[in-house]
Amino acid sequence: IKETTELRILMLGLDNSGKTTVLYKLKLGTTEKTVPTVGFNVETIKYKNILINAWDVGGQDRLRALWRHYFSGTDILVFVVDTADLSRLEKAKTELYKVLSDKELKNCEIVILANKQDLDNAINPKELIEKFDLNSLSTHQWKIIPTVAINGTGLPELLDWISNKYE
Ligand code: GDP
Repeated sequence: IKETTELRILMLGLDNSGKTTVLYKLKLGTTEKTVPTVGFNVETIKYKNILINAWDVGGQDRLRALWRHYFSGTDILVFVVDTADLSRLEKAKTELYKVLSDKELKNCEIVILANKQDLDNAINPKELIEKFDLNSLSTHQWKIIPTVAINGTGLPELLDWISNKYE
């Protein structure tokens, strides 16, 4: 990663998908949870030239306009999915597509973390690709990585992918 280039990563996902765990496991530095007056939790990490903003999507449509501030300049969208939360997969998909329709994100690449692969009822990455209809997604380049955030499985692949992109 070039020292001079700042890399902006936006991490989104439904609540409970594993975002905080991913950030913690990456051990990129101390995460700072802020609760701005607008009323959503944002976690911000700065590690060398990498800036990561993470927060929950879903159930807060009225705040969507305010997100723009965090969307602009995003290089990579990391979208975390709880693959064992079968009843909310459709909601996660809806939120992903809503986010992707934002013009501020039209040039970013997407990494989808198929998280909680350790759980018995989890769907696998191939099934998630189908569920999210990713093969029909023509607006963005995407990559899917199976992860178990609680033990760090898959996170080196995420870091490799990020650094290869920006070498
Ligand atoms: P966030 O709301 O997206 O920040 O989600 P958290 O990181 O707080 O995780 C929500 C819950 O899921 C916590 O109890 C985590 O320990 C658990 N969790 C996160 N990742 C995994 C995983 O890969 N496997 C399992 N079994 N649990 C996980």
